[in-house]
Amino acid sequence: MRTTKLSFDRRALATEAMQAATATRARAKLDQTGPICIYGLCETLGVVVRFNNINMEGMYQRGVPARIHLSARRPLPRRAYNCAHELGHHVFGHGSSIDELREDAKARPWENPKEFLADTFAGFALMPIIGLRRAFAVRRWTPETATPWQIFTIACEFGVGYGTLLTHLSAGLNMLSHRRAEALQRVTPKALRADILGKTTSDPLIVADCHRTAPTLDAEVNTLLLLPPGAEIAGDGLVFERDLAVGRLFRAAKAGIFQVRAGDWAVFVRIAPVQKDEPWYGYIGLAQYRHLEEDLDE
Ligand SMILES: [Zn+2]
Repeated sequence: MRTTKLSFDRRALATEAMQAATATRARAKLDQTGPICIYGLCETLGVVVRFNNINMEGMYQRGVPARIHLSARRPLPRRAYNCAHELGHHVFGHGSSIDELREDAKARPWENPKEFLADTFAGFALMPIIGLRRAFAVRRWTPETATPWQIFTIACEFGVGYGTLLTHLSAGLNMLSHRRAEALQRVTPKALRADILGKTTSDPLIVADCHRTAPTLDAEVNTLLLLPPGAEIAGDGLVFERDLAVGRLFRAAKAGIFQVRAGDWAVFVRIAPVQKDEPWYGYIGLAQYRHLEEDLDE
């Protein structure tokens, strides 16, 4: 009897994915260390990205131009990861395909080499190894001894989810033991937020400390942002909530781009709207227009 399960050389494919991620960043004149805006990268490469109200992860549509469709129903960091995954299908010349919903972000259906390639590409494109090493070193943290909120802070810097960073650190880069990764994976996002904020909330949270290097920070209306102590906002896009020992807590209030300063540190917070009647669904429309103050669609 022949088995239907595909077997493939994961190590060879992972190397291929890493090289493709490096080459793709280089083609777009991005460095090989810092966090990137995946939507900006797609735009540079001529790939059109659109958010839709469809219950899925993402979809790649081959053609001229190539198109990526992402579900606006997924959490913000998940959308960025899904975009990088679909860009992986594009870079490797795969055909049009749809990625069905994966409720468990940690589950990786890696029986399919194309999906393995796209996932591994996404990991390396969003979280380059030199960038992660720098992110831990500059804070004097190490992956193996980092606390859940330290891991979460670095996940926020690279615009990915907590579990996604853990998977990449352990399975992709061998920078974290499987045992420690498993222990950290057991911490739920809700418990993490409660630990950081001192009370439970179902609203998404982004943590930005003064070691964060990216010039922009993507959020959406209702997102909580924990910014460095002393942070001041230009404009009315963020509403101050309260001071915490580790920083100042704000809530994203309206769409647009707003500068935040804390001493020498500065970042442009780019806030996308959410659906008015369904505030848990994100912006629907072309990615390039997601921060416009007025609703604008195709
Ligand atoms: Zn896929």
